[in-house]
Amino acid sequence: MHYPKLQRLFLGLLLLVLPATGCNQPNSVSTPVSTPVSPVAQTSPQTPKLKVVTTFLPMYWFTRAVAGDLAQVEVLVPPGSEIHDYQATPNDVQAIAQANVLVKNGLGLEEFLESTVKNAQNPKLKQIEASQGIQPLQELSPVVKPVEKKGEGHDHDHAEGNPHVWLDPVLAIKQVENIRDGLIAADPENKDVYQANAAAYIKQLQALDEQFQQRLKSFNNQCTFITFHDAFPYLAQRYQLKQVAVVEIPEDQLSPDDIQKTIATVKKYNVKALFGEPGTDNKLLSSLSQDLNLTLRTLDPLETGDKDPQYYITGMKSNLQRIEAACR
Ligand SMILES: [Zn+2]
Repeated sequence: MHYPKLQRLFLGLLLLVLPATGCNQPNSVSTPVSTPVSPVAQTSPQTPKLKVVTTFLPMYWFTRAVAGDLAQVEVLVPPGSEIHDYQATPNDVQAIAQANVLVKNGLGLEEFLESTVKNAQNPKLKQIEASQGIQPLQELSPVVKPVEKKGEGHDHDHAEGNPHVWLDPVLAIKQVENIRDGLIAADPENKDVYQANAAAYIKQLQALDEQFQQRLKSFNNQCTFITFHDAFPYLAQRYQLKQVAVVEIPEDQLSPDDIQKTIATVKKYNVKALFGEPGTDNKLLSSLSQDLNLTLRTLDPLETGDKDPQYYITGMKSNLQRIEAACR
């Protein structure tokens, strides 16, 4: 006698529970996905914001600066990871599938992106290429390749030219303008806010450019330097610094042959400065620079860092300080 009653009670409970879980689903028409919610897929249900996915930190900073609170901005390459070797994850595909806008640097930098976008199958996705309209540089100075070049590592032989345009403040302004125009096209209602935010950030970039100009002008092509990552040709060209060579080195270890090549290059060009970068094996490079009687300094290509858009400004200011100190 008790049996049917219990069953009905149980059914009643189920019915009560079901609609509650239904409410937790985002209001989208997305296909059922059983994977756990990733950080990139977080939604704030009450405010339907523009969803913008950016590829790596500089694109993230510039987009955040322009979008302010109007968009939910995510970055695919985690802030500590290296863009050049990046392999896309299923989360990246999911993030692009759910995004309204994708912001990329272009110039062949984001090699992982083509198949990722294809797999995301998002016909409504608007893509902003921040380098659009920028004339890319091919090789500015000789690149000395490492002895043993395996499949991976730093390979900048992109058919589309050198991608590191964000390291020139003037070209960074152009990138911010492209991002601004792309966001306005995707969300015309908020045009005024995008314009005002972009103008404020561009003002900071202009001030940065002025500082670079003023503090580096006295060197007037006399500051010769070598880097180990072909990231600074745009910066060098803008401010009349002389990047004489790029010595590409393996990321893990310097071989005796690499050391010999570096020494030969330094002697050949009579360079004033050696620039390593944060995160590479600077211990070996600094003992090498001691032998060469040069101070090793670091220049940050700003491919990693923290997520505050101001990181770009402070990072570039410390790059300026280090260039100045090295060239003096
Ligand atoms: Zn790079």
